[in-house]
Amino acid sequence: MIMDVWVIGGGLAGCEAALTLANLGFPVTLFEMRPAIMTPAHKTPKMAELVCSNSLGSLSPENAKGELLFELTMLRSSLVNLAFKAKVGGDKALVVDRELFSTLVEDAVHTHENITVVREKVDEIPKNVPCIIAPGPLITEDLLHFLEECEGRYEAQYYDATSPSVLTETIDLEYAFWGNRFGEGNDYLNVPLSKDEYYWFVEQLVNAGEAQRHDFDKVDTFFERCLPVEEIARRGKESLAFGPMRPTGLDIPERFHDVYAVIQLRKENAFGTIVNMVGFQTGISHTEQIRIFKQLPAFRNAVFVRLGQIHQNRFLPGAVNRFFQSKTNDLWFYAGQFTGTEGYLEAIAGGLWAGINLARFLRNQELIALPEETMLGGLVTYIEQVLPEVRQPMGVNWGLVPPVEGKKSERKRKRVERAKAAIEYAARQLDRAA
Ligand SMILES: Cc1cc2nc3c(=O)[nH]c(=O)nc-3n(C[C@H](O)[C@H](O)[C@H](O)COP(=O)(O)OP(=O)(O)OC[C@H]3O[C@@H](n4cnc5c(N)ncnc54)[C@H](O)[C@@H]3O)c2cc1C
Repeated sequence: MIMDVWVIGGGLAGCEAALTLANLGFPVTLFEMRPAIMTPAHKTPKMAELVCSNSLGSLSPENAKGELLFELTMLRSSLVNLAFKAKVGGDKALVVDRELFSTLVEDAVHTHENITVVREKVDEIPKNVPCIIAPGPLITEDLLHFLEECEGRYEAQYYDATSPSVLTETIDLEYAFWGNRFGEGNDYLNVPLSKDEYYWFVEQLVNAGEAQRHDFDKVDTFFERCLPVEEIARRGKESLAFGPMRPTGLDIPERFHDVYAVIQLRKENAFGTIVNMVGFQTGISHTEQIRIFKQLPAFRNAVFVRLGQIHQNRFLPGAVNRFFQSKTNDLWFYAGQFTGTEGYLEAIAGGLWAGINLARFLRNQELIALPEETMLGGLVTYIEQVLPEVRQPMGVNWGLVPPVEGKKSERKRKRVERAKAAIEYAARQLDRAA
């Protein structure tokens, strides 16, 4: 018997999931609350609205987004196909006419014989209905609280201040050292600062320009345990040196003299290829963050995979496995930003992946795990394994895949070749199994 499937949310992830399931022969009911109820960011009643930029990312094969685009094309993503039809100029990036893109998605959904669109807000979902839950970061309160209850997780982020993350191999180890506070282990990379460097750094933070924010992202009060670093710096010249930047408990190598403060970076994934600045959540503008950090010798050549920002963002960290299936209800899959991914293309990828796996689950087929060497495989593994204390959304970057050996100049090419070979193989397997 073919089961009817619900999809909640007609955004990027929800539309991709609905089209994937419908193309595989499943009758889908797609729920979207707009236009009766709008989110603070959406401006139109259309499906798959791009709420801000109209770029889906780079087309360059060496770029992480470019690699994900290639993989989604191999896996026959409906929305990526439509995005190419709506492409405008920008030959090095997939920049789309946002109106045309949404119209194409809306038409594809409405004209599909297996999809019924219901323009209603969903507050609760029956537990025995197979479902893909893709309500995005601006999910309604009632549905959020219902899902928190169901999943037994109450840590959905509200105002979210994230801190920068860096590709580990791009930090200059001449100016940094590995070591944990008060104990064994090498989970932290420490960048020591002298007294002069520290005071210079504090002054930069205090005077740096802030990022522009949407009205609904303007926050006057912060959680005390999650204060932006510039806010701590403003409370007193020494507050960082006695707070997140204190050098206490570190076994500092002799080559560093007069260490007054330290920037700590914690391994963010199992490979240790990405490190996240501890306690450095910030609302400073992205250009200013890069300008300030790059003046410290350790970060001169740093590649930032994520910069700090403050915005409204709701998601349930750790609620899904690598198939994007709920850890508490086998019939429910999640997709899009609500799983903890960040970015348009990542949302589309989540919809596709959840759609493929829910279809397999309903047909009693084994769920498919992608190789970690692929960008999508790396992303879903990260979402499944994300360390509980990190709890920050993640967009694709090369730190998500296992490191490759070899000379620095060759590593990029090797990683791309390895990912392409792995996705081509996986796509063939999927086609054969379909
Ligand atoms: C303000 C803002 C700007 C962003 N800018 C960018 C950017 O420039 N580039 C980028 O790559 N990423 C950006 N993102 C991040 C992310 O890529 C987008 O949020 C993306 O749209 C996420 O896709 P999604 O499908 O998960 O959610 P959405 O596209 O938001 O879709 C979710 C849908 O679910 C519907 N919905 C919610 N609750 C319910 C309910 N209870 N019942 C029925 N329907 C419901 C909503 O109306 C919405 O249509 C931005 C995010 C925000 C919040």
